[in-house]
Amino acid sequence: MKRVYLDNSATTAVDPAVIDAMLPYFDKAYGNASSFHSFGREAARALESAREQVATLIGAKPSEIYFTAGGTESDNIAILGVAYANRDKGTHIITSAIEHPAVLETCKHLEENGFSVTYLPVDIDGRVSLADLREAITDETVLITIMHANNEIGTIQQVRDMGALARDRGIVFHTDAVQSIGKVPLDVEFSNIDMLSISSHKLHGPKGVGALYMREGTNISPILFGGGHERGLRPSTENVPGIVGFGKACEIAHNRLDDDVKQMTALRDRLMQGILETVPKSVLNGPCSDRLCNNVNISFEAVEGEALILALDRAGIAASTGSACSSKKSTASHVLLAAGLSEQMAYGSLRLSLSRYTTEEEISYVLEKVPPIVQRLRSMSPLWKEE
Ligand code: PLP
Repeated sequence: MKRVYLDNSATTAVDPAVIDAMLPYFDKAYGNASSFHSFGREAARALESAREQVATLIGAKPSEIYFTAGGTESDNIAILGVAYANRDKGTHIITSAIEHPAVLETCKHLEENGFSVTYLPVDIDGRVSLADLREAITDETVLITIMHANNEIGTIQQVRDMGALARDRGIVFHTDAVQSIGKVPLDVEFSNIDMLSISSHKLHGPKGVGALYMREGTNISPILFGGGHERGLRPSTENVPGIVGFGKACEIAHNRLDDDVKQMTALRDRLMQGILETVPKSVLNGPCSDRLCNNVNISFEAVEGEALILALDRAGIAASTGSACSSKKSTASHVLLAAGLSEQMAYGSLRLSLSRYTTEEEISYVLEKVPPIVQRLRSMSPLWKEE
């Protein structure tokens, strides 16, 4: 059976060049990067070269990159670390209602520990308003954390303006860029970003590796304690093969960014329009512009998202409803509800996410399969009324 993978926002295939770069670090150059002997020095050099590759992709200095175990850990270190370090200045944090659980749950934890958090609303396209952000700032605000691009509906936020606003008020600005890095050009200097989270497995690198960018001079407390790895911010022996692979993935993403964006945008638009034109009562979730080049999110009236995912899976198509991390819970997506969708339309959502490996032929296959599957599911639904 044909298999088409359109769940690249959940995770991506590792690039063969990334695998090649990683292999020697498992059984040849396997030293601990903290050791003084030649094996250790070899590993340490590999880490520094990966640090440069990651820094180059986002316009940072290598010394501002801290390796972590992924996007979730980067978000936790940034949010808890800044909140705890600046407690004497204030205990207010601003975020948005559509963040990933890695941010929302961390903010909730802070609320349970004496901090107050403002969750900014979004409009129908998932955009946070700058006016709302400005209004939410108080003398107590120490951190603004707003994602660069949303993992479910692909909305890209105006982080440059948000960063400028934060800087003007002396507030740390963190952005979760897990979904955007490698798909949206981003320069931390230009965009006034103080802290940024990246995850390797979303850009064709291995899982369990990520980075936190932190501008020099940012006031932060560590939240993990141990040996002094990553300048005390993320202790634990570095995952050298993983970090080497992550670095290579960033280098490839940097070199191919323009071509990848062009290719994915064309396929995304064909997929999006194709479904919307052939399936009645289907609506696009998220914006038409300022949208991730690999994200399609469509709700189908009177269709249960989970039933749709199962039917697509039987046709060999991997997709998701809501976000993969929360698709095991039978609650409607908090992102779609925050963007104003009814519960019914939120339940009927389908996310298809592309990668640089997605082909025209795969898009044609999906366009052929989706309409009859939706029609069949509707024919069994008591909610469906044909006009
Ligand atoms: N932030 C966003 C926006 C994500 O989409 C994800 C994963 O889906 C994460 C954070 C978590 O990243 P990781 O899986 O590397 O912990």
